Amino acid sequence: MNAEKIQKIIEQFVDLLMPELTPYETSLYIFFLRNSFLSDDMTIRIGKRTIGFRLGGAKGRGGSSKATSTSFAHVTEIINGLGEKGCIKIGDTNRDGTLYHIILPSDIPLVAEKLAIVPKTEDEDYFTKPEKRKELFERDKWVCHYCGEKVTEENATLDHLTPQHKGGKHTKDNLKTSCLVCNGIKSGKTYGEAAPFLLKSVQERKARSHK
Ligand SMILES: [Zn+2]
Repeated sequence: MNAEKIQKIIEQFVDLLMPELTPYETSLYIFFLRNSFLSDDMTIRIGKRTIGFRLGGAKGRGGSSKATSTSFAHVTEIINGLGEKGCIKIGDTNRDGTLYHIILPSDIPLVAEKLAIVPKTEDEDYFTKPEKRKELFERDKWVCHYCGEKVTEENATLDHLTPQHKGGKHTKDNLKTSCLVCNGIKSGKTYGEAAPFLLKSVQERKARSHK
């Protein structure tokens, strides 16, 4: 597993999964995840007693100087919690312990649901994705919003009606098809600020083409 993939897993874990887990479930999931990375199939076989010692904690063993352990019943409860939340699949048990299959955050339903919401905000971006840009050129019938001239694949641009530095977003409504010349004039200005310059330029271009 490469570093980039691991970073993604950690990000999804911290941002999306952790809020759904109890502190004990969190530490057991991390323990499982860390150890299952060692196996190719994301599994770990371990006994509940060992898990109990790994989790430590002082449940019911307050003042003891001996290594503390989470009680058997509590370990069972934590494991079942992770199972119910779809974080692990519980397999067979033999004398070496129980087999646990660890589910990566992106495959856990609770997390997948949250991830599914993300593309919606990406859909809002009509500026950076070529196919979305084209959608807007089609919407504007390949005509410059400012001078009314036809544009082509070569000189079609999208102008931010409200400029980006004034908080204008890459949304459908804030983007207008514009020819290179008009976009150069409008660039960074609001429509109000740019209008006199645009008008002057349009008139000049018209006059030139009539000569
Ligand atoms: Zn134009």
